[in-house]
Amino acid sequence: MRSLKQHLREYSQAQLYFNKIQSKMKKYNFNAGPSMLPREVIENTAKQCLDFNGSGLSLMEISHRAKDFQPVVDEAVALIKELYQVPEGYSVIFLGGGASLEFCMIPYNFLIKKAAYLNTGTWAKKAMKEAKLFGEVVEVASSADANYTFIPKDWTCPDDVDYLHITTNNTIYGTEIRKDLDVKVPLIADMSSDIFSRPVDVSKYDCIYGGAQKNLAMAGVTVVILKDEKLGRAPRQIPTMLDYRTHVEKGSMFNTPPVVPIYSALENLRWIKKNGGVEAMAKRAKERADMLYAEIDRNKLFRGTVAEEDRSYMNLCFVMNDEYKDLEKPFFDFATERGMVGIKGHRSVGGFRASCYNAQTIEGVQALINAMQEFEKNN
Ligand SMILES: *Cc1c(COP(=O)(O)O)cnc(C)c1O
Repeated sequence: MRSLKQHLREYSQAQLYFNKIQSKMKKYNFNAGPSMLPREVIENTAKQCLDFNGSGLSLMEISHRAKDFQPVVDEAVALIKELYQVPEGYSVIFLGGGASLEFCMIPYNFLIKKAAYLNTGTWAKKAMKEAKLFGEVVEVASSADANYTFIPKDWTCPDDVDYLHITTNNTIYGTEIRKDLDVKVPLIADMSSDIFSRPVDVSKYDCIYGGAQKNLAMAGVTVVILKDEKLGRAPRQIPTMLDYRTHVEKGSMFNTPPVVPIYSALENLRWIKKNGGVEAMAKRAKERADMLYAEIDRNKLFRGTVAEEDRSYMNLCFVMNDEYKDLEKPFFDFATERGMVGIKGHRSVGGFRASCYNAQTIEGVQALINAMQEFEKNN
């Protein structure tokens, strides 16, 4: 007869095995940011963290001035220029501080007297708040009264502003401006959550910036694309670290840059190129969004939250129809059991938000659609 000890040992082994299977249950990552990255980007970055270029040292342990690291920055910059076909006369830099620091650096460096802002959501509003510290701010239009459920269309921008600032994708509300606007004034865009998701005509912008953690890399680095001739015009003293010229002149190496996040950006840029570039990313984004919005519109339980023509391909927001409001929590639990992660809507919208950045797969979107359909049948 087997002893109690043997039973216990077998039991704990089975438990371990069970835990292992459980933890391997396929997860579908819909987090809004930091968010899903291609598996190979994560694995390649992890490898370099263990042994950078066979040096026996970790990427975390080397000097940013080491001869092996400069090529990382150089290649990342070159890939950004290649993928976006950045014209001559523009610089690409990597900074810390997130997109939120750019909200301050933009007016610090570019606002001479007056700037215009298109208020399409929380992030636009935060950008505007900082600009007011530096000069006059004109809100050209706002959809705040409608809880930012659409992108204002019929507005005009004064001719005498130093720039117009837009947020191309409103991460929280799920609206997006997917074309490059034609305006008569210098255009500046926060592209944090749709950067590299579609081709962009960089020549139409004086500055494009984005925190990396939505669609480019792990958190910790911000990419900024700048038109060189526009630098150094603001009539004020700018602290060294907040002056774009400092970082342009030193090739992002004025001080220690976020080494590991930049490396992860490089891996992701390589992945984007290998997978067909921004044109292919745009095609995949549309495919995913068409699938999911079709289900949101078809399914009796759900409805989209924003104007159809402004629906984001990156952050797809939806809520329970009024008569099914009570099913919100049950659906959330149901989907979570099936592996969905990060589908809870932002508190200012409620309901659900499925973020589908470049790394999102058709399989992931299909898994969510299946959960929505099954849940509809059960209810
Ligand atoms: C997340 C986000 C920000 C803020 O980014 P941080 O890097 O956290 O400062 C700004 N703008 C948009 C559009 C965002 O999605």
